[in-house]
Amino acid sequence: MERKVTDAQRPYTTTDAGIPSASDEYSLTVGAGGPMVLQDHYVIQKMQQFNRERVPERVVHAKGGGAFGYFETTEDVSQFTKAKLFQKGARTEMLARFSTVAGERGYADTARDPRGFALKFYTEEGNYDMVGNNTPVFFMRDPSKFQDFIHSQKRRADNHLRDNNMQWDFWTLSPESAHQVTFLMGDRGLPKTWRHMNGYSSHTYMWLNAGGERYWVKYHFKSDQGVENLTEEEGHQIAGQNPDHHLQDLSAAIKSGDHPTWTLHMQVMPFEDAASYRFNPFDLTKVWPHGDYPLIKVGRMVLDRNPDNYFAQIEQAAFEPNNMVPGIGPSPDKMLIARLFSYHDTHLHRIGGNAMQLPVNRPRSPVNSYNRDGAMRYDNPGDPVYAPNSYGGPAAAPGRFGTDPSWFVEGGELVRAAYEAHAEDDDFGQANAMVNRAMDDAGRQRLVSNVVGHVLQGVEEPVLSRVFEYWRSIDKTVGDQVEQKVKAGG
Ligand code: NDP
Repeated sequence: MERKVTDAQRPYTTTDAGIPSASDEYSLTVGAGGPMVLQDHYVIQKMQQFNRERVPERVVHAKGGGAFGYFETTEDVSQFTKAKLFQKGARTEMLARFSTVAGERGYADTARDPRGFALKFYTEEGNYDMVGNNTPVFFMRDPSKFQDFIHSQKRRADNHLRDNNMQWDFWTLSPESAHQVTFLMGDRGLPKTWRHMNGYSSHTYMWLNAGGERYWVKYHFKSDQGVENLTEEEGHQIAGQNPDHHLQDLSAAIKSGDHPTWTLHMQVMPFEDAASYRFNPFDLTKVWPHGDYPLIKVGRMVLDRNPDNYFAQIEQAAFEPNNMVPGIGPSPDKMLIARLFSYHDTHLHRIGGNAMQLPVNRPRSPVNSYNRDGAMRYDNPGDPVYAPNSYGGPAAAPGRFGTDPSWFVEGGELVRAAYEAHAEDDDFGQANAMVNRAMDDAGRQRLVSNVVGHVLQGVEEPVLSRVFEYWRSIDKTVGDQVEQKVKAGG
């Protein structure tokens, strides 16, 4: 923050209407000790604006940071998608935002928590947003449980404290959470920096090629810095010293020219495989084992530019999973379908009806819609203001871009039901695979230790006994060790 100006060159302060102010030090009063007068518009406006500085913080993912960069497609994946940004040689400007989930806007970065991994690609056919996490799965598969889950991670109603008992109460009553909780309590639940974690779409999406052929896909952004994590003790220590550790790390790395990169790989499932695959491929609590659908390399994401206005470029950034461009579509994942509604809705509340007009959210491609007016709108489309019209206004061109990505849905009664079961759709099998295939002995010991430490902070009966059973269902040895150590006091 250096300004090299002489006093004569220095800009003068004004009101927000550009009117020169008389003083930055003294408000206008009746005599030196007298009352302030209302005509001191400069000071009044400062107070009023200050009172309105904050927009509502995100209900989840409130604490975060991000950077700009680009994505370049290095491989030919045109057999799977016609999306322009994924054609070999394409280079697309983008924004990434990383975050914790449960903590508020000033919360410590090094708390054990999943991390948000939200990307906005400014493509020539509109913005494409992928709002992922650093975990390939999630705590639940039905959106009706999301709000309750987040409440259990946030704060109690009476004393406004976070409460591990309510976290384990929810988790143990929701066995579908086992896979993600295992991830969270393992090493990757506490990344060393945002640069040292992978990003996953978690959801299954659809890709469509130019011939209209459909594929189910999952995105894996693998850190080229490598995956590195902090121990629980390191996390606590850093949180005390510098709660903004991850924010600072990303900013400092980019400033020094050490630009972090991720390589995008896809898992691609032929459209017809979904019906008979051993796991329900749309269940957000499941991965597709790499052995079934190996990773296919696509390209590289580079972050090389820090924001220069955090509020305008990161706090007001609005990522929306509903922003999908031609060649990319949703899947029957119920959590994804809910998010297609929920994200835009939250931005309408948090930023306002014209959030998409802000520079960070505005597409770099033309916007030709009939949406108009509303608070803060400054760039309204002209006439004609309706469609269809006879006056040359914009009209849909499905022949050029294709129609809605689609899949067959069996007709039937409206029901509230679980997904139709696939052969290996239990809640604990993949969590067990993580414990026994992805983790080594030392990693398993850290998992047990992290769970024990967490449980010892306030988890009580009847939740406590359920915690032991929950872990025994994941892995008998891990469950027995958790019980033994908790009962021994750590
Ligand atoms: P693989 O052996 O092919 O994959 C295991 C994957 O686990 C690795 O590729 C790595 O994902 C990830 N991993 C490695 N160490 C850890 C750790 N300490 N904590 C969490 N994840 C780790 O087997 P499968 O594909 O059959 O998966 C086995 C289990 O691994 C799954 O049940 C799941 O729990 C977990 N996993 C699987 C992923 C997948 O998409 N198949 C992704 C992440 C975890 P990466 O290569 O992405 O770094």
